[in-house]
Amino acid sequence: MFPVVVVHGGSDMVPKERSENSKLGVCSAARAGYAILRAGGSSMDAVVEAVSQLENNPYFNAGCGSVLNIRGEVEMDAIVMDGKTLGSGAVSAVRNIANPIQLARLVMDKTSHVCLTAKGANQFARSMGVAEVPPESLITEYARMRWTKNLAPGTDTGESQMGKMGTVGAVAVDSEGNVACATSTGGLVNKMEGRVGDTSCIGSGGYADNQVGAVSTTGHGEAIMKVTLARLILFHMEQGQSVEAASDLGLAYMESRVGGLGGVVTVDPQGHWAARFSSSQMAWAAAQKDTLHYGLLTGEEFTQSIDDRL
Ligand code: ASP
Repeated sequence: MFPVVVVHGGSDMVPKERSENSKLGVCSAARAGYAILRAGGSSMDAVVEAVSQLENNPYFNAGCGSVLNIRGEVEMDAIVMDGKTLGSGAVSAVRNIANPIQLARLVMDKTSHVCLTAKGANQFARSMGVAEVPPESLITEYARMRWTKNLAPGTDTGESQMGKMGTVGAVAVDSEGNVACATSTGGLVNKMEGRVGDTSCIGSGGYADNQVGAVSTTGHGEAIMKVTLARLILFHMEQGQSVEAASDLGLAYMESRVGGLGGVVTVDPQGHWAARFSSSQMAWAAAQKDTLHYGLLTGEEFTQSIDDRL
């Protein structure tokens, strides 16, 4: 079994001028996660590191760079899950935390709960010594521009949602065969205040079980929740499907049953991996056997040595 980490940067219609930075971002996050695995670290450490990097990268809809709700504010959701214990931690609707994924991990490690929300999550963060940052520091000019554009009368909000998402996530298997997942998002553009999507919902935004595998999802959260996409894909794997076929079956069901598009990264405990999407694009990268694989468009896959730079 060869350790692997697979990262996504959201099932998004990435504007041309941002596509290079999206690819660079997922590749460098996959490298960071892989460095941990290569040094014998755990899959949980690898996915949290990869996702923290993407949260810090303003080109993605998580942490700094999150999209804004209808009031022009950031509200973020995140989840982690450990396939060995089925332990999971999540936060939803948090506002002034730079790395919600690290807070989600603390919920898993330090509380008896699975998800903390809004004010309570912030209180918990304070009690753990997690720094709160000024909310404006998470807002990019690009996010504000999209928010303003979507406030214009006559904007087709359905259309603007489907094309402009960018949640981040990662799955990994370590040298001991433990799987883990992590997913983090700012949610949907101009969402209602208090809207919580799939990302922080166990089985929807992610799921990890050493007996089957791990999945991190992205896409239209309301659709993902209706079909519990991450768990649905693992169900297909339990039925004997490969990581790739199970991912495609889950995505196809979501599209035919509720009209939702999205993308996933999936691993099994043997180190097989897949990055699949029904949306038109998803920035993704995988690192295994000292090789980096990455792509953005359907059917696209570039390969290079892990030590070469793009
Ligand atoms: N799934 C996220 C949400 O609905 C959005 C995304 O994946 O970009 O909150």
